[in-house]
Amino acid sequence: MENPLTEAAMNSVLRHFELPTNDIPIEFDGWFIDSLDNGGKDRIRWAVLELYRWQPKDGGPLGYILYTIGHSLVYHDLDAECNKGVVTTIENIGDVTPEPFADLEPCPDCAPPELDDLDDDDQIEMEETWYKWVQCRSAGELLTAGRKEAKCRNCFHRPHGIPGSGEKCRGCGCDDYAEAPRPLSIPMQRLLAQVKGKEPEIAMAMREKKTQL
Ligand SMILES: [Zn+2]
Ligand SMILES: [Zn+2]
Ligand SMILES: [Zn+2]
Repeated sequence: MENPLTEAAMNSVLRHFELPTNDIPIEFDGWFIDSLDNGGKDRIRWAVLELYRWQPKDGGPLGYILYTIGHSLVYHDLDAECNKGVVTTIENIGDVTPEPFADLEPCPDCAPPELDDLDDDDQIEMEETWYKWVQCRSAGELLTAGRKEAKCRNCFHRPHGIPGSGEKCRGCGCDDYAEAPRPLSIPMQRLLAQVKGKEPEIAMAMREKKTQL
């Protein structure tokens, strides 16, 4: 696909990307800009953020795609209260997670046996790798996409209804939902610090929104 104007502006050839998700892969045309891995040394769960410049198919102005991979090495006991994994036999763990078998870690809460002490047909609950992606038509939308998930200002649980609706939180029965402030996530702050020098539109949107890193 040719788009001489934007290719010249980006100084490199437009590429076609196909990235995994928990469903069918996402496909788009664009340019890879940068990535951020927020894992530490002894990590068992971490995220990798990838930022792409996105050329919409309708030929509209360049946007951004923020793509996140949520890694987890954690497996749980079968029927554990944690309730965070997908039931699988040891033999078929590779169907649930792309993480290397040797790196997998028992959950510190429900403390399942070590993998080496289990047989091929024993069952555990393995956490899945998750993928999230947001198409942003502008740098301003990208800043919104990088904010923390919405939660209730009063009970700190997930949103329960629209403000003033009186809908109760299933977690605690709170009936006074109001959205808590949603700052940029820490990995997003780090990613923005990396890219603002080379992406003038992002730098400008950050100034407009008075974004502090
Ligand atoms: Zn557990
Ligand atoms: Zn609440
Ligand atoms: Zn609540």
